[in-house]
Amino acid sequence: MKSIYLDHAATTPVDPEVVKAMLPYFTEHFGNPSSLHSFGQEAKKAVEGARDSIASLIGAKAEEIVFTSGGTESDNFALKGVAAARKDKGNHVITSVIEHHAVLETCHYLEKQGCAVTYLPVDRDGAVDPGAVKKAVTDKTILISIMHANNEVGTIQPIAEIGKIAREKGIYFHTDAVQTFGHIPIDVNKLNVDLLSASGHKLYGPKGVGIVYIRKGTKITPFIHGGEQEKGRRASTHNVPGIVGMGKAAKLAGESLTEEAKTISALRDKFIKGVLETIDEIQLNGHPTRRLPNNVNVCINYIEGEAMILNLDMEGIACSSGSACSSASLEASHVLAALGVPPELAHSSLRFTLGRSTSEEDVDTVLTALPRIVGKLRSMSPLYKKKP
Ligand code: PLP
Repeated sequence: MKSIYLDHAATTPVDPEVVKAMLPYFTEHFGNPSSLHSFGQEAKKAVEGARDSIASLIGAKAEEIVFTSGGTESDNFALKGVAAARKDKGNHVITSVIEHHAVLETCHYLEKQGCAVTYLPVDRDGAVDPGAVKKAVTDKTILISIMHANNEVGTIQPIAEIGKIAREKGIYFHTDAVQTFGHIPIDVNKLNVDLLSASGHKLYGPKGVGIVYIRKGTKITPFIHGGEQEKGRRASTHNVPGIVGMGKAAKLAGESLTEEAKTISALRDKFIKGVLETIDEIQLNGHPTRRLPNNVNVCINYIEGEAMILNLDMEGIACSSGSACSSASLEASHVLAALGVPPELAHSSLRFTLGRSTSEEDVDTVLTALPRIVGKLRSMSPLYKKKP
């Protein structure tokens, strides 16, 4: 049985080219980049090469890239670091209700430290209204943090517009670009962002490595203390193989991004059209067009998402319900709730996220399996009655 992996928003396989680039940095070039001898300098050269590749993918300068342990740390650093550095200016942060927990939980922490946080609602498609951002600004606002695209429903936010508002008001603007980095074009200048988070394992790179872009001149207080790595902004010996891997993944993404987004979004559209046509009482979640090229998120009424996942898994098909991080919990997704999806319907949600290796044949296989499994599960449901 062929496995069909459709959970690329949770994580991606590491590209063989990336593995190849990383391997020497475990063995021959194992030096510590902070060491002065040639072992160290060899590793340092590799770290700086990766920094260049990552910076050029988002139109940044190399010195504006700080390596971290992943998207969660980058989000924590951006929010806690700015809140601490701008304490004298104010204590108000604006974010949205559909952010990843890495942002939401950090905001909850900041509230306990005396910050005031405004959690903006979204519309039925999951979009933040830039007008609402403008209205929420007070003379105490120090930071706006709105994600580039949502990891569950795929909606892409009007980041450039929100960034313009932040710029006009002299407020720092952070975006969590974990789901877009390496998947859709990003230019930090066109988007008007001051801080941006990205993670290695979402773009065919390794886990445990990420970056935060910090625009030159942005005031931020480090929160990991120790050595002088990353110009004193983030202590700890560099994860050299991980950084090399993320750099290579960024380089490969830069070479194929436009073409890949076109191919994958065509498959996504075929997938969406197919499920909406063959299954009744189904709805698409997220924006119909302004969505990630690889994201399909649907609610299938009278079906338990978990039951679907297990049945699909038995046929070698991997997908998720809500986000991977919360799929172990029985609470309905906070993102779907924010879109106005009632809890019972939210429990019937399924997220399929396509990737580089997804073929048209894979999509056809899933489009055949889904209605069959839905039919089987609904035949056991006392609530479901097929419309005549
Ligand atoms: N932000 C978003 C939007 C994500 O989707 C994720 C991971 O799923 C993260 C942050 C956390 O990234 P990491 O797994 O690298 O800590």
